[in-house]
Amino acid sequence: MRQTACWEDYTSPCQLVALIVLCSQMKITRITVWQVPLPLKQPYQLSGGRLKVEHLDSTFVRVDTGEGLCGWGEGCPWGHAYLPAHGPGVRAGISTLAPALVGCDPCAVDEVNRVMDRALPGHQYVKSALDIACWDILGQAAGMPLWRLLGGARAEAVMLNSSIPTAAPEVMVESIKTARAAGYRVHSAKIGGTDPAVDIARINAITDALSAGESVTFDANRAWTPGIAVQVLGSVAARGWIEQPCETITQCAQVAARVCQPVMLDECLHSFDDHLQAWRLRACEGVKVKPNRLGGLTRARQVRDFGISIGWQMHVEDTGGSALADTAALHLAASTPAGQRLATWLSHPHLAVDPVPGQGARNAGGFASPPTVPGLGVSPSPDALGAPAAVYGDAT
Ligand code: MG
Repeated sequence: MRQTACWEDYTSPCQLVALIVLCSQMKITRITVWQVPLPLKQPYQLSGGRLKVEHLDSTFVRVDTGEGLCGWGEGCPWGHAYLPAHGPGVRAGISTLAPALVGCDPCAVDEVNRVMDRALPGHQYVKSALDIACWDILGQAAGMPLWRLLGGARAEAVMLNSSIPTAAPEVMVESIKTARAAGYRVHSAKIGGTDPAVDIARINAITDALSAGESVTFDANRAWTPGIAVQVLGSVAARGWIEQPCETITQCAQVAARVCQPVMLDECLHSFDDHLQAWRLRACEGVKVKPNRLGGLTRARQVRDFGISIGWQMHVEDTGGSALADTAALHLAASTPAGQRLATWLSHPHLAVDPVPGQGARNAGGFASPPTVPGLGVSPSPDALGAPAAVYGDAT
């Protein structure tokens, strides 16, 4: 059997152009940056009410090449207090990274990341939008949607989960009813406070209110000390996932060794080394994989593949943003084996604005499917985004 493709296999002009583009080096000629304010429909509180978010500061980037292809990415922290990530810091970091990337081949995504790491060590969240834009170009050049490039077999419909902000127990139960009406059967309920009795009441009220076939993760967003976590989790009948009970990997490992519930980690994981440490310390049975926390799809894919290898279960989603950021993460979620893929949260339903109307991953009865066109499948209108915040490289 012949193993290699020949020119005559590429019968259409489009396929031939794609092959020529894929086999030759492309060059980044221009990087355009927009600040995109994203107000929430309602203020969102988490971590026992310690953290309140009312609007997101998002950064969109478009990477242009000399070959005519362009790719889009989005970097958007969930406010300033959720992670060590700062909305204006994304654009400040890009001002250092973009000049180093002009002239690079965007399809060489690993080399793109090495160039960014040399130019600016750490600061992973500022690299995500640029990395995702390069994956968009790679997908277009290859003629494949990202879920396929990332190892998936089909445009899998991914189950979605709601996100229920911290409130009084009865208010959270009402929020779950509203989410249920929108099709959600998996919920992430935000708990975590200094009074263990209140969290016990929240967990018990929500557990009792679930319908058959529904499940809930209780996310403390690092609010508890290990002592409070052990006290609360030992006092409730719920045996579902508990997420990020304490601040550090070591503290969470202390809790995981003492409680019956499986532990999921999120905010304490920033690098591959963090994931390795979590595994060594047996700190969790699952993790959240978020491109904007880890530095983009290249790093998120690495963590996802590690998680598959060691048997973790994973929520693959992003930290926040519009349907653009949601869609990039959903491509990775859809390419993750179903047995290790938990539900995915979409950020954009929380927003009062939609900068990419109708595009990308959307809730359809509690599920969302990634686009099937080559690349990311979300292409904002530059006119709708307004004046760019910065342009690097060829400004013509
Ligand atoms: Mg979380």
